Amino acid sequence: MASMSILEPRSSSSWDRFNRFVFQRFLVPVKRYRLYFCLIHICIFICVCMYAYENVRIKNTYVFLSLRTRLLFCCFSGLITYNTLCFAHGKILKSYSRAVTIQFRNEDESRDFHSAFEQWQKDVIQGIHLPNGAIAASKSKFDYKIEPSSAKMYFHYYGQLLHQQNMLQDYVRTGTYYAAVIENRVDFTGRVVVDVGAGSGILSLFAAQAGAKHVYAVEASEMAEYARKLIAGNPALAQRITVIKGKVEEVELAEKADILISEPMGTLLVNERMLESYIIARDRFLVPNAKMFPSIGRIHMAPFSDEYLFVEIANKALFWQQQNYYGVDLTPLYGSAFQGYFSQPVVDAFDPRLLVSPPLCHVIDFNEIKEEDLFEIDIPLKFIASVGTRVHGLACWFDVLFNGSAVQRWLTTAPGAPTTHWYQIRCVLSQPIYVMAGQEITGRLHMIAHNAQSYTMYLSLSAKMWGPGAVQGGILQTSSGKLDLKEPYYRMSQPQSYTMAQDQQPQQLLQAQAIPIHTEDLDEAELLQQPSENTGPQLQ
Ligand code: SAH
Repeated sequence: MASMSILEPRSSSSWDRFNRFVFQRFLVPVKRYRLYFCLIHICIFICVCMYAYENVRIKNTYVFLSLRTRLLFCCFSGLITYNTLCFAHGKILKSYSRAVTIQFRNEDESRDFHSAFEQWQKDVIQGIHLPNGAIAASKSKFDYKIEPSSAKMYFHYYGQLLHQQNMLQDYVRTGTYYAAVIENRVDFTGRVVVDVGAGSGILSLFAAQAGAKHVYAVEASEMAEYARKLIAGNPALAQRITVIKGKVEEVELAEKADILISEPMGTLLVNERMLESYIIARDRFLVPNAKMFPSIGRIHMAPFSDEYLFVEIANKALFWQQQNYYGVDLTPLYGSAFQGYFSQPVVDAFDPRLLVSPPLCHVIDFNEIKEEDLFEIDIPLKFIASVGTRVHGLACWFDVLFNGSAVQRWLTTAPGAPTTHWYQIRCVLSQPIYVMAGQEITGRLHMIAHNAQSYTMYLSLSAKMWGPGAVQGGILQTSSGKLDLKEPYYRMSQPQSYTMAQDQQPQQLLQAQAIPIHTEDLDEAELLQQPSENTGPQLQ
């Protein structure tokens, strides 16, 4: 619909004339075969979207123009006459082999259409000029993917200093970034840097401290104004930093960069879908063989057993089992409430001894991955249980690597490591499964991105049945759940799981202490052995 308004000619009389013309010339068959034509247009619309989506992979600015062009033409339902004549416009044709046909009856109508189209095209191709001199396309990759209301809330959140402070006060996070940058001066000195999602500007300031020639600090929220203020207040560094307010998908920079620095990680690494913006920034701003800080992210997963957590979640729905709530029977909603509570990933810091097997990890290489690879993440799961217990779900955490030329550093959010503001997450299944020590647990974690900047998660875990009644080597116990990463249950206000687990489940812990935890990364294995201190900041 945005396209329609862009197309609207200056005077309403010419618009009417144009409309009349369209109806006279093309709508006759639509009237006659209304349903048939509607169906054809729906099919064309879907094909067009799929075609344009395919082209997004090519990372071509004009793809969006093409899509918009086609949507625009779809708005004039009767106008599409499938590839019979070319709408000849060089820039479109250069990147788009197919075209639609528009035939005008006379010069006036053709002129009206062209002038409106050119105006619209100017906005899309040349972009809208922002007050800070940056240029933004009127609708970017970000806008196509993300629901405007979600984006509004998201940038409103990050526009507030208290949330930036929360991240700055996560000393594990900020300290690791600082160390990674300063210890790798050699990567920054004399280089052009882009800070993707600069927030308060802290990483830009670090990069400037490390000797960057120039830093472009790109920030979409109102925080950009605070970043300007903070940077101006550090005059020794300020002259080498330019704050650009806008989305990385939309702004243009004066030059290509040698390094990208960013903190794009959300809960479970991928929440907020900012990694996609990081990848888009890579493709838009970097010279070949440039560096990315961080360059690799890993999602770690392991089954866990936590009877106390399971009961806590199941009990939340008990409210709906009341049959006389002010004279009302609430039980019809019990099932939905029960499912609802289990659809929330639990965010807290848990004791690593609750893990039932060594973790496995899914690696995301930020240098290589394509934006669309993050639209759907499918991870097959296979574990060997270290103890006989009830498995209540899958525990997940992540780490990222700063692969500096001088020093390599991992920022980890592992259980048992010093706590960060990301904590860890646990997907709790409404039906636990029973395992014996040495038994194989298989499953799948399938995450599908949604337009509210997060993911729908489909988790299933299976183990062979055992004990009396189970057919040897036969039946699987399988438990599945659907969760929304956007709607977590923040459990940090509860007593911390470390103390709680010791009080509540001595037996379980005694068993679990025997679990050897191995990862491919030795440092991390050491970290995993440390008891949790939970000294990190709480989410607001
Ligand atoms: N770099 C800062 C802030 C990290 S939080 C720090 O490390 O402290 C992520 C920031 O990225 C938020 O301020 C958010 O507004 C910004 N952001 C997210 N997506 C963006 C996008 N597509 N374009 C520009 N900024 C974005």
